Amino acid sequence: SLELSGIELAFGTNKVLRGVDLVVPAGRTACVIGPSGSGKSTLLRATNRLLEPDAGDIRLGGESVLRSNPDELRRRIGMVFQHFNLFPHKTVLENITLPLRKIKKLTPEGAVEAARIQLELVGLREKESARPGNLSGGQQQRVAIARALAMKPEVMLFDEATSALDPELVKGVLGLMADLASAGMTMIVVTHEMGFARQVADQVAFMDRGVVVEAGVPEKLFTAAESPRLQQFLSQVL
Ligand code: ATP
Ligand code: MG
Repeated sequence: SLELSGIELAFGTNKVLRGVDLVVPAGRTACVIGPSGSGKSTLLRATNRLLEPDAGDIRLGGESVLRSNPDELRRRIGMVFQHFNLFPHKTVLENITLPLRKIKKLTPEGAVEAARIQLELVGLREKESARPGNLSGGQQQRVAIARALAMKPEVMLFDEATSALDPELVKGVLGLMADLASAGMTMIVVTHEMGFARQVADQVAFMDRGVVVEAGVPEKLFTAAESPRLQQFLSQVL
């Protein structure tokens, strides 16, 4: 399981996370929803140690992540961003093999083999020599997902992975994420796609102003929200 407890993080005097608790059992998917600026991206970045929390602990499989080395952590926790973050001057294949060689220390041949397996799974085997700029947004996001999965992570973090996509491309990427969830990946998914949260999440957490205000199974959260802040948020987005 992935357990975040009492996570606090400030940018200067701006306290963005003010004691976040979230437990994701192994093989389960938690969706995080909440207004802009509530700290969702900051929470994911802290989980992957792109940012260091000021207080609290993050445990993966019972072991504190904050004491492990960042490279090892990036092997164990994959992250997918809104804007793909692919290297524009490298091919699709190179985008995937690079971290396999640098972080996982695979041989060039081993990296290519692992990358091709993932590209096949996301349906982009024939695009391996293309540059990201010549792919659609949906295809680029699939490459980013393949790149993360090739590392064989224990956990996947998604930060609004479909927000930058044209509407007709959203479904395919959400479908891929739903397949991953069914396959038993442990995931935290920050999303504005309430339909996805409702259908795929085992747990939905509503964040506001740096804390998880309310969390529960989607059915309960979406139909019987207790906190007024969540009720108000849902009335705006549903
Ligand atoms: P959105 O839904 O718009 O993506 P969010 O919930 O992901 O919002 P965050 O990106 O985590 O929100 O930002 C939370 C707060 O932290 C905001 O007030 C933001 O201005 C601040 N913040 C985020 N990143 C930084 C940074 N690198 N330096 C300073 N402040 C930051
Ligand atoms: Mg964000």
